[in-house]
Amino acid sequence: MSVDLLVVTALRSEYQALRGRVPEARLARCGMGPVKVARWLPELARDLPAVLVVAGVAGGLDPSLRPGDVVVASEVRDAAGRITLRETAPLVAELRARGLRVQTGPILSRDTIVGGPDERERLAATGALAVDMESAAIVRAAHEHRSDTPRPIAVVRVIVDTAMTPLVRPATVTAGIRALRNLARTGPALRRWAELAGPRTIVLAAPRSFCAGVDRAIDIVDAALERYPHPIYVRRQIVHNAHVVRDLEQRGAVFVEELDEVPDGTTLVFSAHGVAPAVRAEAERRGLKVIDATCPLVAKVHAEARRFATRGDTVVLIGHDGHDETEGTLGEVPGKITLVETPQDAERVVAEDPDRVAFLMQTTLAIDDAAATVDVLRRRFPLIASSATDDICYATTNRQAAVKAIAGNSDVVIVLGSANSSNSLRLAEVAARAGAPAHLVDDATALLPEWLVGARTVGLTAGASAPPHLVDEVIGTLRALGPVEVVEQTVAREEITFTLPKEVAQ
Ligand code: SF4
Repeated sequence: MSVDLLVVTALRSEYQALRGRVPEARLARCGMGPVKVARWLPELARDLPAVLVVAGVAGGLDPSLRPGDVVVASEVRDAAGRITLRETAPLVAELRARGLRVQTGPILSRDTIVGGPDERERLAATGALAVDMESAAIVRAAHEHRSDTPRPIAVVRVIVDTAMTPLVRPATVTAGIRALRNLARTGPALRRWAELAGPRTIVLAAPRSFCAGVDRAIDIVDAALERYPHPIYVRRQIVHNAHVVRDLEQRGAVFVEELDEVPDGTTLVFSAHGVAPAVRAEAERRGLKVIDATCPLVAKVHAEARRFATRGDTVVLIGHDGHDETEGTLGEVPGKITLVETPQDAERVVAEDPDRVAFLMQTTLAIDDAAATVDVLRRRFPLIASSATDDICYATTNRQAAVKAIAGNSDVVIVLGSANSSNSLRLAEVAARAGAPAHLVDDATALLPEWLVGARTVGLTAGASAPPHLVDEVIGTLRALGPVEVVEQTVAREEITFTLPKEVAQ
């Protein structure tokens, strides 16, 4: 049976736009403005739904909004206060997936429609994206009737008028028709989102999120931002995570691809993935103040590459072509090292002396994939040498073991991490191989309802470059959709820390 969904509209035209468009939903009209809403609220109290949506058109306040854009409230405000709505991230993702332009932010409810441009500008300065006359009162009433069980609530408004296209213009008619058409398009997404309501268990993989190398790299940029003149340049992403990069950018870090983008005399940080000696030499020649955030475990692989090449071995690096870390390791002994990505590549390796071969690995490989490639190398070169300790680092190993442990008991596994993060991608692959549908997402806003409908046990982890607060945000989103029990499955405890380089040490 479908979840009981009530969609409340204010205007007859909104009601008609949504009629028949939200499968198996109850539709209601509360009337326009706070007085009519107050008269209608007892009707809501008499038959509270499991899921409530306030839907309709609204005025745009933020200058980036255009008629027809959809605003999903992250918060509703009125003279009586503010109410946060955390549960709407999957709805936003679903609406976007259906081709609608969607923004999420505060919606302001007031007694009258927006007056002239001055008033619109004044209201926009409060940070609200859009303005209506009903949402806050309805959401507040529904919250007051909330029992211990969360009742998912969403406010979805389609923009009719904006600063550039105010209500009085003849174009309002066209904008109104477009807004109502887009309002109708939201209907199926509302139903799909409503189906997420219900209890869940979240199984957290442990360890997850930041490793010691990532912690150190971020601390280095933080300390450089405090200690040295701005801007601080960082070659490539300090770690492969969009949130980390955006946060550091906002604090004054400038991310560049290559050294020719870095002005002379400035401070440059090398990323956690390491650099080739040629890049170091160029930075020195340019007189840049360099701070090296290369993870010590990547630096260890570099040292091994030099050691094996110096003693005359044919060196094989198992890694991903084009990855920043691989580029750095290959650059340690250019011309003396061969990159292989697959067991098939390993079959083709040519060695001058089959008894003098050594292999190294990128630190963030999938353990099982790498093992298959190593098997081929060992079969072909029985005396092959390798590092004394594993090149795949402790953080990669532990996170993969942890996600494998939770995947078998999860209906779906969510991996937090960016698409260019090797270790995060591997976590999604490992979970999928262990039998769970797995999805890599940057944050809670990318969760799609289709992954979560019917998924009562959600496995959750984060790549070594993904900040821990992203995990909390996913939990918060799911918690707002229904009662949640959080359990943690721990496969290892991590106590490793790395010291900071002298340029930023205390
Ligand atoms: Fe270092 Fe491993 Fe973290 Fe990479 S994943 S930064 S190698 S600890």
